[in-house]
Amino acid sequence: MFNIIVLGAPGCGKGTQSANIIQKYGLTHISTGEILREEVELHTAIGDVVKKYIDRGFLVPDDIIMREIYTTALKQDKTKGLLFDGFPRTLFQADYLDDLLLHKGSKISLVIQLDVDKDELYNRILNRSKDSQRTDDNLETIHKRLEVYYKQTHPLIEYYKKQGKLYTVSGMAPVKEVFEKIANIIDNNLMKEGK
Ligand code: AMP
Repeated sequence: MFNIIVLGAPGCGKGTQSANIIQKYGLTHISTGEILREEVELHTAIGDVVKKYIDRGFLVPDDIIMREIYTTALKQDKTKGLLFDGFPRTLFQADYLDDLLLHKGSKISLVIQLDVDKDELYNRILNRSKDSQRTDDNLETIHKRLEVYYKQTHPLIEYYKKQGKLYTVSGMAPVKEVFEKIANIIDNNLMKEGK
C-alpha cells in the first residue's frame, strides 16, 4: 500500500489537493474532519460530543479520533493506498497511526506539507465561509483553529522530517501548479518503491 498524509494549517488547500491526488492515483480518502461532520449531521452519540469541540475550534480528543480511524482503516484492505487528510493532528495520533499501519504490514510512504502564510490562511477561510455550511468557518473559531494548529499539529513537521518522509510544498501558488509539484513528488516516490 502507498499511504500519504497531507499536512497543513486550516485553509492551506488540504481538501482540494487531496481530491486531486485521489483522482489521479486512486487512493482512498480518509478525512477525519469529514468523518466527524457526518457524525454531527447524523446526530450520533459521538456526533453530539464532537460538535462542541469542532464549533469552538478545539481538537476532538485523541481517543475518539483513534476509534474512528481504527474502524475506517480496518475496512480498507483492498485499496492501493490511503490518503490521510486532517489526520494525524497530534504527536499521539501520529504514533498511533504508525503502530496501526505496522500492524497491517504497511507504513506511511510520504508526507506532503502545504505551506501557506498566516494572512492568506485567514483570507481563504473567511472567503470559504461565505458559501460554507461549516459552523467552524468564522473569524473567532479560525483564530482558535490556527492557534491549535501551531501548538499541537505543527510539531508533526519535525516528527516526519526525522523519519525522512517530509516534503514541503508552497501552497501559495495556483491550485494547478501546487498539484503539479505534489504529483512530481508522488511519482518519484512511487518509482523509488518500485510501484
Ligand atoms: P478539518 O475538516 O480537517 O478542518 O477538521 C474540522 C475540525 O474537526 C477540526 O477543527 C477539529 O475540531 C476536528 N478534527 C478533524 N480532524 C481531527 C483530528 N485528527 N484530531 C482532532 N480533531 C480533529
